[in-house]
Amino acid sequence: MLKYRRILLKLSGESLAGAEGYGIDVKMLDRYAEEIKRALELGAEIALVIGGGNIFRGVSAAAENMDRVQADHMGMLATVINALAFQDALERNGIYTRLMSAIKMEQVAEPFIRRRAIRHLEKGRVVIFGAGTGNPYFTTDTAASLRAVEIEADVIIKGTRVDGVYDSDPEKNPAAEMFSNISYLDVLRQNLRVMDLTAITLCRENQLPIVVMNMNRDHNFARLLNGEPVGTLVHS
Ligand code: UDP
Repeated sequence: MLKYRRILLKLSGESLAGAEGYGIDVKMLDRYAEEIKRALELGAEIALVIGGGNIFRGVSAAAENMDRVQADHMGMLATVINALAFQDALERNGIYTRLMSAIKMEQVAEPFIRRRAIRHLEKGRVVIFGAGTGNPYFTTDTAASLRAVEIEADVIIKGTRVDGVYDSDPEKNPAAEMFSNISYLDVLRQNLRVMDLTAITLCRENQLPIVVMNMNRDHNFARLLNGEPVGTLVHS
């Protein structure tokens, strides 16, 4: 019996970049594809939202005087580039996929249609949601929460390079302690950087649990689905 059956997995753009810190590292994509394949073999349904920060982040460009909406459009297109790279890696690993974009680009991706997305998942295809929410001033964390609620996912899994949510940054403070469980309210009160406020609020209002876990440890995803104590669970 799987702990979660329908999953929305959110990966940041940076997680595709590997050691370089920018661009796309195909070896990272292949690792994630293997993790996803193991989860599919267990019977999970998987949807993906991938960020764009390894290529372009609207808010950073806006800080340097670029028009914010223009920059966010670029950021959303960056997520589609990552989504195409991810789709390629999944298909090379024998996984059926569909890419659905929140911005229409028919030659490249299907438009996002909720019922169709659910149908793909039921048929065992991995659905990648590209172009965020399709709106400027949002993030892909919020897109992940929105799509997860829409497709009635059991959980959002935020794949990171640390093991979970800590009381301080574990990459800077070796004494940082990890939570195994934490409430949405404590995340908000303590200003812990799990996801941005809009995303957390949407999850909280819809009672959608979030698991933050390390996506760079082999078999972690499958272990979580098998009910092992992996990562931090954020819940009500
Ligand atoms: N973006 C946007 N609307 C959305 C999602 C993303 O405008 O609904 C833009 C925004 O400019 C953002 C960029 O796309 O900076 C990349 O997304 P994000 O920063 O969330 O990527 P991540 O940090 O996960 O790599």
